[in-house]
Amino acid sequence: MSLDEFIHRRQNYERSLEPINRCGTCSNDLSAEDIFIVAKAYDKGRCILETAQCLSCQMQLRHFVSEQSMENLQLYKGRRFEAFTTDPFARRAYFLEDPTCIITGEEIEKNGTFEIYTLNGGSFGDPDENYFFVGGTAIEQMTGLLSEETRRHWEGFLSDLQPSSPEVIVPTLFG
Ligand SMILES: [Zn+2]
Repeated sequence: MSLDEFIHRRQNYERSLEPINRCGTCSNDLSAEDIFIVAKAYDKGRCILETAQCLSCQMQLRHFVSEQSMENLQLYKGRRFEAFTTDPFARRAYFLEDPTCIITGEEIEKNGTFEIYTLNGGSFGDPDENYFFVGGTAIEQMTGLLSEETRRHWEGFLSDLQPSSPEVIVPTLFG
């Protein structure tokens, strides 16, 4: 599957190819009217985690992240990420280039390590402009920014979702 095809299918479950319609945490149904995030993590091109989170579960996930870790993550995310979430022109510009990490600008390779987040509903409704990538470098560096306390909580949360390589997943968006 090419990266283009992959992006096209990003809202589906990779394994079953069924649309995602249930929150991975509370199991509530998700409809087109709901605001929710679909997160997928890839390691060496292999999908190791796919999950959807409804808005209220995202809020609760924030409790997994200590204040110090939250501050570190916010600082690290930087200008590109900030512009993507607040400036429609910057968001459009992101989709004109080859797929890159929203934080570092590093190019995303299909067989590499990366995460893709799709934002559904709200002001992110346009399916052509509602997703972004986080690359391997940013994942590694953000993991280093987490406090020990946060890391412990986060690992507990992830173990419920059962990813096969939890070490390459960080609470990027939830922070
Ligand atoms: Zn939920």
